[in-house]
Amino acid sequence: MRKVSIFGATGSIGESTYDLIARAPDAYHVVALSGGRNIARLAEQAIALKAELAVTAFDDCLPDLREALAGTGVEAAAGPEALNEAADRDADWVMSAIIGAAGLAPGFHALSKGTTLALANKESLVTAGPLLLAEARAHGATILPVDSEHSAVFQALTGEELSAVERVIITASGGALRDWPLERMAQATVRDASSHPNWAMGQRITIDSASMFNKAMEVIETKEFFGVSASMIEVLVHPESIVHALVGFKDGALMAHLGAPDMRHAIGYALNWPVRRDLPVARLDLAALGRLTFNAPDETRFPALRIAREVMAMGGTAGAAFNAAKEAALDRFIAGEIGFLDMSALVEDVISEMSSRQGLGNVAISLDNVMQTDAEARALSVGWARASN
Ligand code: NDP
Repeated sequence: MRKVSIFGATGSIGESTYDLIARAPDAYHVVALSGGRNIARLAEQAIALKAELAVTAFDDCLPDLREALAGTGVEAAAGPEALNEAADRDADWVMSAIIGAAGLAPGFHALSKGTTLALANKESLVTAGPLLLAEARAHGATILPVDSEHSAVFQALTGEELSAVERVIITASGGALRDWPLERMAQATVRDASSHPNWAMGQRITIDSASMFNKAMEVIETKEFFGVSASMIEVLVHPESIVHALVGFKDGALMAHLGAPDMRHAIGYALNWPVRRDLPVARLDLAALGRLTFNAPDETRFPALRIAREVMAMGGTAGAAFNAAKEAALDRFIAGEIGFLDMSALVEDVISEMSSRQGLGNVAISLDNVMQTDAEARALSVGWARASN
């Protein structure tokens, strides 16, 4: 029996992971499940999977969790330290699917135990990629990508030499506002940006798809995870979300990964790796699809892609500033404080201010520096207002 844990079990990725594990309960022993405020669902999952432990990230949710688990034999715990302790528990495979920078620490704890980490939490690689990879190397742990694009690249690279790779192309659906003119994008509401054309995901990542901040994060993630240079990474808008990524080799060959837009593909691949097992996902009927389309992204309407390149060129803790400012900008957009296009203006201004103050690229990447940069970027983001306002 494989010992598994899911961090962020009550979220979109967490639920898909839960689904795959719940289909084969005899194959898994569930060590820990974590959630945030959705206590009813966390308790339900923990009881159904007979988990050892359920952890909520929030102390004030502990009484409700205790009550929901009373008499079931599942332990209850709360808070960031409890999350880290849960990640320290003996497990073979851990899903990292907490949203945001809060997912960083439990991932480090799991890696320090030599566990295989299925990494959905892209913030970990964007903010502290070199640290995370070093931690994995130091403890003989494996990191498997779960983002569909990175899983696709990983699969296309299997059996290949990295030195033969010329370029890595990740695709973007274009999100909810793909064809909107710039003037209309400026007026986009939270509701407009929250409906993804192809993928069913959490609200935050859906809005990040509409602004292409999600793709910008994935470009940085690609550089960090695969160790390719920024200039080798390309983004293609592909509205059908069938081709998830392509790897171009020196002989001109392009290896593409195709699959239905269902995260259980990438999660199941990571769960079963290094073997392939049957997965409950739709099989593609290419004749029925008829055509697949691709376009170059418009960086005027989606400045996040340009900002990502500047962040990669800076290095140091620029990724941490980028991620924190992006999260704070999204909070402010959802709260109705700033407009849709203000999000990229805010991120750019915060990075520029931090960079001129302390030279982000010169700050060595350590967990402390990442956390400090994160806190400073959030503080600046809260006070940000458009210069012309
Ligand atoms: P969701 O918002 O759907 O779920 C997030 C999970 O994290 C929930 O379990 C939530 O708990 C929990 N959580 C919220 N806040 C905190 C906190 N402060 N501390 C600890 N746990 C917390 O997110 P997604 O599943 O969409 O995304 C998870 C990660 O996977 C993100 O990094 C995202 O970028 C990445 N990803 C997502 C994809 C997708 O298809 N959704 C695709 C590829 C990557 P609760 O709901 O109980 O409050």
